[in-house]
Amino acid sequence: MNSQFFFRCIDPRCCRQFPITEKLYQCPACSDLLDIAYLFPELDVPGLRRVFRERRTSNRPLDISGVWRFRELLPFPSEDLHHVVTLGEGNNPVLDAPRSADYVGLKRLKVKHLGWNPTGSFKDYGMTVAVSQARRLGSQYVACASTGNTSASMAAYCARANLKAAVFIPEGQIAYGKLSQTLDYGALTVQIHGDFDVAMTLVRELSEETGLYLMNSINPFRLEGQKTVMLELFDQLDWKIPDRIVVPGGNLGNSSSYGKALMELKELGFIDKVPRITIIQASGADPLYRTLVTSSLDLVPVKKAWTLASAIKIGRPISWKKAMRALNFSDGWCDVVSEQEIADAKAVLGRDGIGCEPASATTVAGLKRLMSLGEGEKPEVTIDPDEDVVAILTGHQLKDPEYTVNYHLDNLYEHATYKNVLVEKSGKLKSTFANQPVQVAADKQAIIKLLGL
Ligand SMILES: *Cc1c(COP(=O)(O)O)cnc(C)c1O
Ligand SMILES: [Zn+2]
Repeated sequence: MNSQFFFRCIDPRCCRQFPITEKLYQCPACSDLLDIAYLFPELDVPGLRRVFRERRTSNRPLDISGVWRFRELLPFPSEDLHHVVTLGEGNNPVLDAPRSADYVGLKRLKVKHLGWNPTGSFKDYGMTVAVSQARRLGSQYVACASTGNTSASMAAYCARANLKAAVFIPEGQIAYGKLSQTLDYGALTVQIHGDFDVAMTLVRELSEETGLYLMNSINPFRLEGQKTVMLELFDQLDWKIPDRIVVPGGNLGNSSSYGKALMELKELGFIDKVPRITIIQASGADPLYRTLVTSSLDLVPVKKAWTLASAIKIGRPISWKKAMRALNFSDGWCDVVSEQEIADAKAVLGRDGIGCEPASATTVAGLKRLMSLGEGEKPEVTIDPDEDVVAILTGHQLKDPEYTVNYHLDNLYEHATYKNVLVEKSGKLKSTFANQPVQVAADKQAIIKLLGL
């Protein structure tokens, strides 16, 4: 296997190339985002599909990993694989969700649950590659800004790789499960007085002025790892490509990486058909939606993003141009859902036996909203009940148990850090599918009566 890899500026008027041995996040000439581009040799596609599948039965760490199993499509030649840091990430299941399908009005619905990763979110797919690149570059100290899951993942992989790690989180605005992970994995945890967007700006400037290596998804190596979500999914579906993939949108790294995966897989001949990418944002953190519907050439940012789905509470998503490219390439769409819709969709998924983070439930909420639109909408917007749809669930239910408990206690608005902002903007939330705990005396007869036995 002898591919060649380099950075390439995503601006079609620039397209300048740089070696991946440089520590770059943006084009030095025009400061646009960078892709990792490949000069692939002639690939034996059926042969590689077979190799990808066979590695599932191997016990080698690189084959067990749901990311490195697809290493022929990653920017690490075999002589560099000794740098790889893996925790056995990936291998996340595709599950049927019949109750959720019914709820949204689809004949069937599959979910791919990326919350089954070593640190409980999809971030591990990208982090294994970015931390491996940090090792290849010889970096000593890495950093990220995070709404919680990036920091949890980065801290774990850095602990594994023996790298110093600093995470910058918005004080009081990340879920406890995520904070606890970061502390346990030994990262220096810096609570910034400000929101994610403030923390992001700070850490970007720091990484330019100091030796810190930046691990946010502006780092193109993160997106390379996340590409393998599509490979893993298609392998699990025996390469029967779905009609649509629905994904939450925060900093937009995930949707961007799926778009890049689809472009490369099409070009290489792994797929003929391109599923539509549908990105769903929270209505209080909807910069991509605003940009799309106003056909703006520049990002329309949200000054103060708000949503209880803290993983997607982002007003200035770094990867918005790449996400727009993914929508253009796949004839996709971006839409928004309310706090109420997110909360109820999460409870419905729960009834399928599938727990997830609030941010992940935007997918089912978005499907319900799009399914309810009448005829006459554009084809990229409307969904046929007979479509094969895969919803990407991004994080584990236990990341944010406080949200779930408050929902079932019909107390969700109490959860809000910015309680007043939320009540003002979205009204008091109702818990349509609440499953309240019941109090009963420690008495057998009373319990028999309660259980209706
Ligand atoms: C990071 C994250 C998101 C947002 O993903 P982006 O790539 O930033 O759009 C959504 N859900 C969960 C659980 C996350 O951790
Ligand atoms: Zn450029």
